[in-house]
Formats: sequence, C-alpha cells, structure tokens
Amino acid sequence: MKWKNQITDLEAYKPGKTIDEVKKRFGLDSIVKLASNENPFGYSPKVDALLEQFDGSYTLYPDGYATYLREEVAAFLNVDEKQLIFTNGTDELIQIISRALLEEGKNTVMATPTFSQYRHNAVVDGAEVREIPLNNGDHDLEAMLAAIDEHTAVVWVCSPNNPTGTYIPKEPLEAFLNKVPKDVLVVLDEAYAEYVVASDYYDSTALIRQYSNLIVTRTFSKIYGLASFRVGYGIANEAIIQALEPVRPPFNTNVLGQFVAKEAIKDQAFIKECREKNREGLKQFYAFCEKNGLHYYPSQTNFILIDFQCDSDEVFEYVMSRGYIIRSGKALGFPTSVRITVGTHDQNIGVIAAMEDFLQNKARS
Ligand SMILES: *Cc1c(COP(=O)(O)O)cnc(C)c1O
Repeated sequence: MKWKNQITDLEAYKPGKTIDEVKKRFGLDSIVKLASNENPFGYSPKVDALLEQFDGSYTLYPDGYATYLREEVAAFLNVDEKQLIFTNGTDELIQIISRALLEEGKNTVMATPTFSQYRHNAVVDGAEVREIPLNNGDHDLEAMLAAIDEHTAVVWVCSPNNPTGTYIPKEPLEAFLNKVPKDVLVVLDEAYAEYVVASDYYDSTALIRQYSNLIVTRTFSKIYGLASFRVGYGIANEAIIQALEPVRPPFNTNVLGQFVAKEAIKDQAFIKECREKNREGLKQFYAFCEKNGLHYYPSQTNFILIDFQCDSDEVFEYVMSRGYIIRSGKALGFPTSVRITVGTHDQNIGVIAAMEDFLQNKARS
C-alpha cells in the first residue's frame, strides 16, 4: 500500500480508560470518570424533554448547513450566520483547518504541551511542526512569534490551555495578534471559554471583528455536557469560513446533535450554574495541593494539573484502583503530573481522599 510516509510511525489517539474496563479489572461496581473534562453535572435538563419530542427523520440526511442551530448560535454570539462553521466536534474543525492550509513545504506553530490534535493533523498533512515550550504553564507568545516565517500557514493558540488550564489575558493576546502576519491563520481554541472567570479574559467575538486572520473554535462537548453528540463550531470573518466550507464533509453534524445543541445554548442559566459549581470544586483541589505542598497551575477550566513529583502512572493506577479514572500526565507531556477533571462536590471529596492515601502510602514505603 502507498501510505503517506509521515503516518507510518504515527500513533492513533489513545482515549482514557472506559468505565466498563475499570469496573471489570478492579471488581468495582461504581466508577467515576474524571479524565476527559466532560461536565459532571451533565447537560441542560431541557435537553431530555426535547429528545422525547424529537420528530425529525433518522432516514434522511441531516441539514448539512445546520440552519436552525446556526440561527441560534449566531443570535447568541451576535455574529452573522455566515461567520460560523459547524463541525463534528472541534476535533473535526482542527482537521478541516489543517487540511485546508497545511501541506509539505509549509509549517505550523503551536505551544507544547498543548492539545494533541494540532500536531497530529499537521503531521498527517505533511507540514513541519514548530513546537514552542510553555513558559511556566503559559504560551510563550514572543517565542511563537519568532518561530513564524514566510512558510508558516497556521498558528494554534489554546486558551485556556489543555492540559495546564492556564489562559492568556487580553493584553498579551492582542499584542500577539497585532504582530502575526495577516496571511497567517491564528486558531484560538476556546474549548473551555465558558468556564473562564478571570476579569482580564478577552471577548473573542470582538477580536474577530478586529483581526481578519483569526478563527475561534468552540465546542458543545465540555460545559454544555453534550460530548457524545459531537458538535463544535468555528467563528471567523466570512472570508475564512467560505474558504473552509468546501473542505467540510457535507453532512458532518448529525440531526440529533444539531437539535440538542440548539436547545442547550439557550439555557445559559444552566451554564452559569455549572461555571459557579466548578469554581467551588477547584477550591477543593487547591486546598488539597496547598496542604500537601504539591505544585498546580491555577485553572480557568474544569480540570487541574497537579504535580506529584513521581511517575504519573503510579498516581493514576492507584487512584484507578479506588474507582476514579483520571489522566496520567505521561501522554500529555507532564510525566510527573496528573490531570483531573473537576467533578461534583462528592466526587471531588472521593478522588482527593484517594490521592491523600496515595501520598501516605508513598511516604510510608
Ligand atoms: C476537548 C477539547 C477539544 C475537542 O472537543 P470536541 O468538540 O469534543 O472535539 C478541542 N480542544 C481542546 C483544547 C479540548 O480540550
């Protein structure tokens, strides 16, 4: 077979352990998954009622233009409907952007560690990947600027960043955007934007009006609690959206995903409540870290990266034996840290107790 050279060594994405796998292995009946930053409070209760009333067709193709969802999101963001692109999760939007702009002879600039899919897609598309180490958890925007040359097609900025949870304040982001050449697309991944409470965070829809080379990505998978429906979207000026649209598969978002996302975005009271509960949850983890002298990054997301100063797989395995699936930092570029999704109050108490016991066992041995 004539596979592309660059994919021969490429590993497939390794998802977190499934609940059933862990149940079987440890003979536990209840498992809490705090590994993929889903919303522990689920989704708007209005969605369930709506699904019961769904009277669309499963036989016909979905509306490829996602018309009703588009109307709702455009009204919510106060942008034109033509400034939006809807995708099968943000993952697919990353793929579409990469496919539209990256190829051999071009390069792309991103932080490291950051969300793995920027690099992954760039490699598949044959572009050179320029990874700029985070500076104390933050994007090193100066170094990223310095890495841009005439062959750079895309710059990825993840704010708040996965897996550190850190964000870029408005001023440094604008200073950065002012200096990026206008023919380089900047992708601002805002998968966790709805969780942010920092007062110096930017309004990304305002930035889109200011910068013609910016696309913002959002998702219904995180705070909206609808990860399994696979709905993400991009916001940019019309020219960028028009250029990307031909690369989008024709029926990429499904009929139920469009239907529930449209309803979910209307229930901002639910989103606000989740944001507030998440801040309370983060405090539980901060207290645990401070009590035990563990380094963490203050988070603007629904997860926290904690450094245990030992092989992260050890922490991961122990906590899993206690019924909590978290994410080992090994595959995330932080081999001595774990990333934990903030759960409900009680889930947090449970996972923190397991981590306390891990530390005590370790101190004794
Ligand atoms: C979860 C996540 C995504 C992917 O979200 P989907 O819409 O479910 O594909 C994108 N970017 C970041 C930073 C994420 O953490």
